[in-house]
Amino acid sequence: MPSPIPHDWTPAPCLDLVNSRWSDHLGSGRSYDRLPEPLFRRAFLKRWGYRVRDPDSAGGIARLAALRTVLRRVMDGYVSGRPLSAAQRRLLEVEANRARAVLRLRRRGGEEELALEHSGEEWDVVSSEIAASAARLIAERGAVKECANPNCSWMFVDESKAGTRRWCNVSVCGSLVNVRRHRSHAGNQSRLRRA
Ligand SMILES: [Zn+2]
Repeated sequence: MPSPIPHDWTPAPCLDLVNSRWSDHLGSGRSYDRLPEPLFRRAFLKRWGYRVRDPDSAGGIARLAALRTVLRRVMDGYVSGRPLSAAQRRLLEVEANRARAVLRLRRRGGEEELALEHSGEEWDVVSSEIAASAARLIAERGAVKECANPNCSWMFVDESKAGTRRWCNVSVCGSLVNVRRHRSHAGNQSRLRRA
């Protein structure tokens, strides 16, 4: 079983949640889930500043799992360039509006900054913020991609200047796929020589 803490995080809580369930990048067909891991939940909640009394609450975990299913479908569609279906849009709006949102103007670094704050039941706040991050990525046309390794389900935001990032992590999938391509190329060569 891989470590409960992921190799990489993303700049959006919705993608970190989606990536908590993933398929084996080596192509064994197995899939893994970090959501049941207490260490993962604590790291995820801490990373995004989400405060809940009990990170092990069964209700909270079930909420995150259900939200993850919705977000995986929504983000898969977005990555493939498909428009949101009416049902997906409704689901995303329901999740993003579970907690009351308040606009706040704060002074930071000598400038006014606009922030959206959620208040209410703690897991509602968590769900709303995660769902809102997905809505924001879509509305702001974020460069969300899925790893180019066909066995890897990892999603990331391509923040490279040239917009050419292909791998979740070059040392995990980039080198693996390059090695396989090299091997199959070498295999073709030896078959050709034998012929
Ligand atoms: Zn990958």
